Amino acid sequence: MYKLIMPKEFVGSVLDLTPEKLQALGIKGIITDLDNTLIEWDRALATPEVEQWLKTMKEAGIRVIIASNNAEDRVKKFAEPLELPYIYRARKPLTGAFKEALSTLHLPVNQVLMLGDQMLTDMMGANRMKIYTMLVKPVANSDGFVTKFNRAIEKRVYKYLDKKGIPTWEEQS
Ligand SMILES: [Mg+2]
Repeated sequence: MYKLIMPKEFVGSVLDLTPEKLQALGIKGIITDLDNTLIEWDRALATPEVEQWLKTMKEAGIRVIIASNNAEDRVKKFAEPLELPYIYRARKPLTGAFKEALSTLHLPVNQVLMLGDQMLTDMMGANRMKIYTMLVKPVANSDGFVTKFNRAIEKRVYKYLDKKGIPTWEEQS
C-alpha cells in the first residue's frame, strides 16, 4: 500500500532540479502537477523563478507537460502564456492522463519524470505507470478543498515513515 504512494525521491522545490541532475537519471521529459507543485494553488500565473526554470529545461531539451486535476480555465491560463502542453481534469491517480502525457511527450516511460506535491494523486498515478517520481514540498501551506482530505491521509503516512526511520525531506540535504 505505502509503496504505491511513495516517491522515488523527495525534493524541496522544482527549482532545485537542474537539467544535469535529470540527464544523469536519463530523463528527457517531465510531467508536472500544477497546484502547489509549480505555484501556489491560489496563484494564477508563473512566478519569474518558475518561468526561468521552465526556460532552462526547454533549452536543455527537456520537454515539459502539465497534468492537473484542476479545471480547464485554471490550467489553460497558466500554461498558454508559457506555451506548455497541458492536461486538465487529469483524474490522477487514474492512469489515463499519464498515458496521454507520455504520448504527447513522445517519450518512453523510463525517460520521464513525474513531479507533484501529493502522494495520493501524483505519486500513486505515476507509480502505477512505473514513471520515476519526485515529491516536492507543497509551495503553499494551504490547500484547496479536495486536497485537504488527502493531506490528512498523508499525515498518517509521514508518521508511519518516521516510525520506520524512512527519511523524507527533513532528514535529507
Ligand atoms: Mg498539487
